[in-house]
Amino acid sequence: MAKSLVLERKGQLSLREIALDTDLGPDDVRIAIRTVGVCGSDVHYYTHGKIGPFVVNEPMVLGHEASGVVTEVGAQVRHLKPGDRVCMEPGIPDPTSRAAKMGIYNVDPAVRFWATPPVHGCLTPHVVHPAAYTYLLPDNVSFAEGAMVEPFAIGMQAALRARIQPGDIGMVTGAGPIGMMTALAALAGGCAKVYVADLAQPKLDIIAAYPGIETINIRQTPPAEAIADATAGWGADVVFECSGAAPAVLGLPQLARPGGTIVLVGMPVDPVPVDIVGLQARELRVETVFRYANVYDRAIALIGAGKVDLMPLISLTMPFADSIAAFDRAAEGRETDVKIQIEMPDA
Ligand SMILES: [Zn+2]
Repeated sequence: MAKSLVLERKGQLSLREIALDTDLGPDDVRIAIRTVGVCGSDVHYYTHGKIGPFVVNEPMVLGHEASGVVTEVGAQVRHLKPGDRVCMEPGIPDPTSRAAKMGIYNVDPAVRFWATPPVHGCLTPHVVHPAAYTYLLPDNVSFAEGAMVEPFAIGMQAALRARIQPGDIGMVTGAGPIGMMTALAALAGGCAKVYVADLAQPKLDIIAAYPGIETINIRQTPPAEAIADATAGWGADVVFECSGAAPAVLGLPQLARPGGTIVLVGMPVDPVPVDIVGLQARELRVETVFRYANVYDRAIALIGAGKVDLMPLISLTMPFADSIAAFDRAAEGRETDVKIQIEMPDA
C-alpha cells in the first residue's frame, strides 16, 4: 500500500496508507499518476465536508483532475499499452444505463465520479480505470496540460451547449478557473471576442493576457452597461454564467442580445432568483451544463494543435509530499491563483 491524500473528515487531511480497489478488469488500465489538479470541489469537501447531497461520511481520497502513465492493461484493451501517457475522465457511468445509451452519460444517475463521496479520487500513486475513459495524450501535451483537460472539458461542454456560430460575441460572468476555461473554449469554438466580467482585478489581468479576451471590472462598470457599450447596445450573442453569484444570475437577460443564448455553468450554493420575463422579452435560449460528455477527445485535440494554451493558468506546482500544504494554499483562495497542481514523484 502506498500513501494517498485522504480527507478524514471536514477540515482534516492526512497523507497515509489506505486500502483501495486495485483489481484490474479485462477492460481496465492501471495508471501511475503523474499530475493532479486541485479543484474547487476538492477544496470545498475539505473546508465544508459536503457539496449539496454529497457528504463525506468516511475517509475519502481526494483529486479528480489527473494525468499519468499506463503501467498495465486488461486482456481486452486494444487502444492503450504500457508506457502510454494519458489523462482520465473521472466520471464512470453505467454503460448499459438509459442515459449512457443516449450519449448523455454525464447525467447518468449511476455515474461514479472520483472524489465524490463515497468514491475515492486519484491523489494516490496508482489507479485502476476503465480504458474507455482513458485518453492518449499527444507527445507535445505535457502531464501538466493533461491534468488541465478535466476543468477545460467543462468549458468545452459550455461552448458546445451554446452552439456558437463563427464571429459570435461571447460574454463570461465570473473569472474563476471555470470562467477562464469557458472563455478559452468559446474563443476556440468560434467567438470573435469574449468579454470576461469579474470584480477581482488580478483574475481579470490573468485572462486578459489571451488574445481575443476583453475584461470588465464590475466594480468600475456594471456588466450590462459594459457589454452594451461594446456592442452598440445590442448585447452578447452568448452569455456564459460562471460565477454562481445571485446578482449575476438575476442580471443575465440584460447581457444577451435579442434571440441570444444563456449558458448556466456556475452553481449557486442555494437557489437564486431568475428574471424570467427578462429572458422571455428577448426570447433567450437557456442551456445548462453538468460536467461533460464526449468532449475529452476534442479538448485534447485543441490543446495538441496549439489552439488552446492552458499553461498560463497553472499558477503553482507542489510535490505530492506537500499535498496538504497545497490544499491549504488553495483554500486561501488567492486572487492570483488559478490552478494549483500536485506532482507525483517519478516512479
Ligand atoms: Zn475539477
